[in-house]
Amino acid sequence: MGKYIGIDIGHGENTFDTGSKGVRVNGVGYEEHHFNAAVGLIVEKRLNELGFRTMPAQAAYKADVPLANRTNIYNREKVDFVVSIHANASSNASANGMGIFYWKGSADGLRFAKLFVENFKAMVDGVGLWGGDGIWESYRGSWTNFHMVRETDMPACLLELGFMTNLSNDFKYIFGEHSKKYREQCAEAIVKTVCQYFGVAYKEPNEPAPVVPTPQQVNGGNYKIKTGDTFYSIARDFGISVQDLQRANPNVNHRALQIGSYIVIPQKSAPAPQPKGNMNTDSIVTYLNSIGVDSSFANREKLAAQYGIAGYKGTADQNLKLLELMRKGKAPITKAPTPKGDQKTNSLVDYLKSIGVDSSFTNRKKLAGQYGISNYKGTAAQNSQLLVKMRGH
Ligand SMILES: [Zn+2]
Repeated sequence: MGKYIGIDIGHGENTFDTGSKGVRVNGVGYEEHHFNAAVGLIVEKRLNELGFRTMPAQAAYKADVPLANRTNIYNREKVDFVVSIHANASSNASANGMGIFYWKGSADGLRFAKLFVENFKAMVDGVGLWGGDGIWESYRGSWTNFHMVRETDMPACLLELGFMTNLSNDFKYIFGEHSKKYREQCAEAIVKTVCQYFGVAYKEPNEPAPVVPTPQQVNGGNYKIKTGDTFYSIARDFGISVQDLQRANPNVNHRALQIGSYIVIPQKSAPAPQPKGNMNTDSIVTYLNSIGVDSSFANREKLAAQYGIAGYKGTADQNLKLLELMRKGKAPITKAPTPKGDQKTNSLVDYLKSIGVDSSFTNRKKLAGQYGISNYKGTAAQNSQLLVKMRGH
């Protein structure tokens, strides 16, 4: 059985919004967890391809798992090694480079750190080493006394893959124009190090690195809850109604919004029709003429039937009733719309094809979000749920 690796994605989706894990540049927030998650997701996929089992105690783009829970999970699972993935921050804007921490006295930790530094130098462009050779000892009583390397029963390393706060260089690799390549290179350097450390044959990827999903895709929402948000303030900001927001997020408790979680902002519903025509007259004929509608008895009879007035004879009461209903803009009673598309199939994909809608996973995930199905993974249960919602029955 393959070796078992704890892939420790630093922090969680709420640790920038409620804390300080990230940087703000020109008013835009860049979250450390997003970088850590992107690297971690690639590492996980690649290690699995190479026959390793993996345990991420912290899921990508989900609320933060406390440090003690993380190490409890790794210790209980008895993983063989823990790699904790981070980006660094400093009040000194010129601090830069990658640093790797191991627990002082751990020969295995040091061996991994040395292998990683060599791979980082050979495989990763643009970011240097922090503090000479990039290798740091963690020990009690020092600022390097990190929980993840101290409390793990197995060897562990904590990686600080450059400084987010170094805007002149590292930031461009962690979050900026070079970030896609940099994240892939960092991930591959970790993967190669794990292989070498365990004596497992390393193979370069034969496909491009996986496209990492966005937090919005993973969470099935398009808006992230920030401090102070309420359904009322969000609805107001997006110019939609609170009811529309609740309808789009049936599983969200709007009285206990979780900072850093995602909700769906629905499309604006159509604006209420503006009153048209003569609003003062009591005469249905005058009113119909004012909106350019045929006011003959025959047509009024037809309109009356559409508005649910039975046995129209043109009495004063019936005319007033019809006038009131038409002014209110109450929709005429029409036949229920004929169902569209394949009404028999149990396959969501077949149904989407039958109504001419993109049936790719990406689009199904988007639709799932719009229909309030969170965390869409394409399971059979989610597909039938989405099928029912889209058909409306
Ligand atoms: Zn961190």
